[in-house]
Amino acid sequence: MAQSGDTICAVATPPGEGAVGVVRLSGPRAREIVELACPEVKLRPRRLQATTVHRGREVLDRVLVCLMPGPRSYTGEDVVEIHAHGGTLNLERILGLFIEHGARVASPGEFTRRAFLNGRIDLTQAEAVAQVIAARSERALRNAQAVLGGALGRRIGALRQDLVELCARLESEIDFADEDPAGPEVERSVERRHDDLEREIAQLSESYEERGRPGEATVALTGPTNVGKSSLFNRLLQTTRALVSPRPGTTRDYLEAEVRWGGQRITLVDTAGERGVEEQSALEHAGRELAAPVIARCDLRVHVLDLSLPWPADLGAGIATIGTPVVIAANKLDLSEEPAERIEAERGDGVKVVATSALTGEGVERLREAVLELLSAGRGETEAETVQIVLERHHAALCRARRAVVEGRAALREGRPPEIVVEHAREALFRLGEITGEHFAEDVLDAVFSRFCIGK
Ligand code: GDP
Repeated sequence: MAQSGDTICAVATPPGEGAVGVVRLSGPRAREIVELACPEVKLRPRRLQATTVHRGREVLDRVLVCLMPGPRSYTGEDVVEIHAHGGTLNLERILGLFIEHGARVASPGEFTRRAFLNGRIDLTQAEAVAQVIAARSERALRNAQAVLGGALGRRIGALRQDLVELCARLESEIDFADEDPAGPEVERSVERRHDDLEREIAQLSESYEERGRPGEATVALTGPTNVGKSSLFNRLLQTTRALVSPRPGTTRDYLEAEVRWGGQRITLVDTAGERGVEEQSALEHAGRELAAPVIARCDLRVHVLDLSLPWPADLGAGIATIGTPVVIAANKLDLSEEPAERIEAERGDGVKVVATSALTGEGVERLREAVLELLSAGRGETEAETVQIVLERHHAALCRARRAVVEGRAALREGRPPEIVVEHAREALFRLGEITGEHFAEDVLDAVFSRFCIGK
């Protein structure tokens, strides 16, 4: 395994006062530098060892160290992690000591960049590291974890394999064209391969467009007046777009706002409450409410109920008449004596309940996650859902690959020689290779890793 010349180090945990902070080193001198700083320890591979960090006679900290020798390490080089006490100053002193012993501070994403350059991961996995860290929804996290696990790389790899076989076939036609010109049978099978490739590449690239389409999902907040719909709407938007008033029936019409949750665009609608119906038994009026077109066409309803009012006895039956997927937001949790877990476990009557307080913000994040989960369940997506394209870089490369396949097929249909057809297949192969980093330009790597924090 090729080792980069220098040994890099960085604090891998966020700054602040965490109980534990991790300092990472990677490179040919990682082991030696840590043993210089921790003279009491002889590092053994993949063991967590307790020791002390010394600068001269001064003890800087009591730590746990772990050596992960290359090539079977994160970066593919010798890696040492030091689990020290948290605290920015403490960690910086330890880092400073490693620098005195000859390490250099890593640039953003440099650990992951080395992992990529040393063949430990492909470029999609490197990008997924940043996505896992940045994920703000279950859905985005699941997708990022799937890509990190190599799901996208494998899918691209399978497409590339098909293209390699297609190229080989076309090349053999070039070689033997004089002796045995390709018959219509062969032509048809080559054309079918183009069709299959185009369909599969399109499927993948369209997953990007689908999730980016405005108004892809409409989520309506419904329920009786004064239960806190507008307040929850505001909380979910994290702004104060909706006017909130303690008088029943403030929201005369409805308000729409677009939010982006986990890479997905959602139109959030705050509907007028069921005016004149003060009791929560208003669920009986669900059918009437459905008459409002905005509610009728929504993909999901967040039905808001007030925990300080009597809870409807017929919740499950009422919801069943609605037809659209529903999450109950049991709001005004701050006014309730009951703990959130019990409310969520016992009040649902077969329907998903999330206890919230629009006043304090409690439960609002979980409500958002429940909405995203129900939306993806509604689309028939499961745990094993196919990976979705979320990066413009991947999408652009897929579009180019697709165009090359389409052009190759057109050339074939026009009866162009295999030398021409194969050029398009090679172009598609090249574009797919850009996604996984089979071919890369330094500036692409710079762009990918500049989004990382130091220490990743
Ligand atoms: P809407 O008619 O359903 O849209 O209800 P609003 O959002 O206008 O809220 C009605 C009243 O309930 C306002 O006085 C809000 O301040 C109050 N409210 C909303 N959510 C909560 C909550 O979670 N806790 C408490 N204590 N009050 C809330």
